[in-house]
Amino acid sequence: MIGEGILKGLAETARNFFGSYVNKDRLTTVQFPEERLPQIEATRDFPFLVYDGTDWQQGLRCVSCQICEKECPPKCIYIEKSKDKKPDATGKPQSYPTTFNIDISVCMSCQICVEVCPFDAIKMDVAFELSTDDRFGGLLLNREQLAKSNEYYNKIHPTEAAAVDAAFAEERAKAEAKARQAAEAKAAAAAQTLTPGAGETTRVQ
Ligand code: SF4
Ligand code: SF4
Repeated sequence: MIGEGILKGLAETARNFFGSYVNKDRLTTVQFPEERLPQIEATRDFPFLVYDGTDWQQGLRCVSCQICEKECPPKCIYIEKSKDKKPDATGKPQSYPTTFNIDISVCMSCQICVEVCPFDAIKMDVAFELSTDDRFGGLLLNREQLAKSNEYYNKIHPTEAAAVDAAFAEERAKAEAKARQAAEAKAAAAAQTLTPGAGETTRVQ
């Protein structure tokens, strides 16, 4: 029947409206902003940059590979790559973005930048009260405004962030084991060089 869906929707609204006087579960709205509904973990609006440790400049995971900039459909990411490298939060020398801007007035929250980032450096935020009367300056976020700690990421997306942390820990453990094996092999080779004749068979007279 034409309009059946509309009638069903209106009936549900009426049920909630009148039912809310006798049943609190039927109250589907809250007095925002004094009251807020908890956000579900999959909530997303605009991207932010994750940093490890306490210093956002040193800890930014972004190595300015610029993949997200290339893949962003409305081209609202702008990155300038550093000419030098500096140690990241784990001490590994890395390139870093000297400029990383996102124009959130253009961003369509598609999350493609997050999907393509090989370093888990960019994630979707849940903050939504970002309205401003400064159309250009207020909505063009720079790297300092975009940088948020891994603790924050764990708070807003605990399941996803825990999986990323576990993957990083596994990667670090593998790298440490490899470095240990290389050091042991090097030490064994050095010991052999210092002991002439080691490994030779002694002839019995
Ligand atoms: S969420 Fe989509 S539109 Fe927004 S910056 Fe990322 S890729 Fe671009
Ligand atoms: S956020 Fe990720 S994809 Fe984008 S430049 Fe940084 S490391 Fe590359």
